[in-house]
Amino acid sequence: MASYRIAALLKEPPTGQKVIITGWIRTRRDASGFSFLEINDGSCLANVQVIAEGTLDNYEKEVKKLSTGCSVEISGVLKDSPAKGQSVEILADSIVVVGWADPEHYPLQKKRHSFEFLREIPHLRPRTNALGCVARVRSRMCHSIQQFFHQKGFVQIHTPVITTSDCEGAGEMFQVITGLEGQKQLDSKNLHKEFFGRRAGLTVSGQLQAEVYAQALGSVYTFGPTFRAENSNTSRHLAEFWMLEPEMAFCDLFCNMKLAEEMLKYILADVLENCYEDMELFNRFVEKGVVDKLRHVIDNDFIHISYTEAVEKLLESKKNFEYPVSWGVDLQSEHERYLTEQVYQLPLIVTDYPASIKPFYMRVSDDGTTVAAMDILVPGIGEIVGGSQREERYDILLGRMQNSGIETDEYQWYLDLRKYGTTPHSGFGLGFERLVQFVTGMANIREVIPFPRTPGFAPC
Ligand code: ATP
Ligand code: MN
Repeated sequence: MASYRIAALLKEPPTGQKVIITGWIRTRRDASGFSFLEINDGSCLANVQVIAEGTLDNYEKEVKKLSTGCSVEISGVLKDSPAKGQSVEILADSIVVVGWADPEHYPLQKKRHSFEFLREIPHLRPRTNALGCVARVRSRMCHSIQQFFHQKGFVQIHTPVITTSDCEGAGEMFQVITGLEGQKQLDSKNLHKEFFGRRAGLTVSGQLQAEVYAQALGSVYTFGPTFRAENSNTSRHLAEFWMLEPEMAFCDLFCNMKLAEEMLKYILADVLENCYEDMELFNRFVEKGVVDKLRHVIDNDFIHISYTEAVEKLLESKKNFEYPVSWGVDLQSEHERYLTEQVYQLPLIVTDYPASIKPFYMRVSDDGTTVAAMDILVPGIGEIVGGSQREERYDILLGRMQNSGIETDEYQWYLDLRKYGTTPHSGFGLGFERLVQFVTGMANIREVIPFPRTPGFAPC
């Protein structure tokens, strides 16, 4: 007698054999003299049907009181099922109730709940079909990211969560302080008494540290939690999100874009191949046609346009955008979405942004007006990737840092990378949740991370 996860049981059913499963009751239906139980164990979307006959010892006392959410251990013989829509069922010879779930109080009853309501019960929402599918797809996507980079010979680097380089996150950085006294000590006179003897915060990006390793190991990536105290309550921003950041030495902007496109297609194809059942749920109930949308992305080349061309397209459109467009302004989400959804209906790589709206580390063009930046925009979301070729020339980088008002003393280590064996190098940051949103069709980013953190919201 062997224990099975339901996914494995359904994949190659050991029909005729005795099996044990554990899981949670989804529904109980009584017939005369027996009951049907639908069991889910989280290994896949599908439930297994269990037949509980009236002859079971605990049939009247326990089985007939089982309700949605109760946990059980069931053993019995796996049989071909006569019922439509399922291949096998278990004829139980023992049903052990492991934990009850009082139907008077258990909030997840059979009816469909709104995602907004489910956010209020983050400890129970992964028990729903949709959030379970998201968790499995998200997990698979992490796996395919690791697989992609390992196949390509990249080295994974764990960049720090606590950082003291705050140049990027001005205003968006969460500060790290110790104890109740910490608050008082934050003024600059007292900083030496703080834990690190200087200002520290939660990372807004691992890029600068990834560059250190790229300049030693060639091709690296970092993938981990990232924090931004931005007060933007949108469907695409979290205060804590996961960012994937590859960084490559001896790689220009073109090589960077090629990698990003290949990686995105690889992840999408891998999910379609390995999460078929979960994707079908999204396809039917969350975003109709999401599977075809992903296939379309896999089968077509991404569109490349420059920022200047993007601005021209937007001006040509004669559309009344909330934020008016002109050369030199940053593209807003409404602009990004218009381009990728209305004009091209494909992922779009926008390159060569004005230097004035991009950070100091991006490589400037010869005339100094633009930088070798590239953002990838996708329909329904807008920006999912932001990347660039980095400035590898010491003097130019130093000048850009000084112009941006950065304490260059604190970044000598970063400048040193340009002093000792500099290389043309590039990388990008992929907002992992935004990609999970794109893949699942979930309208709100709060549904694609297990425990979302947004302004005023961090319940558990
Ligand atoms: P946006 O303009 O959408 O706020 P950004 O320009 O601030 O994005 P970058 O600093 O380039 O973003 O970060 C790289 C990627 O990280 C973005 O392309 C996006 O996918 C993701 N990202 C940025 N901020 C957030 C956030 N608050 N929540 C979730 N993902 C984010
Ligand atoms: Mn932002």
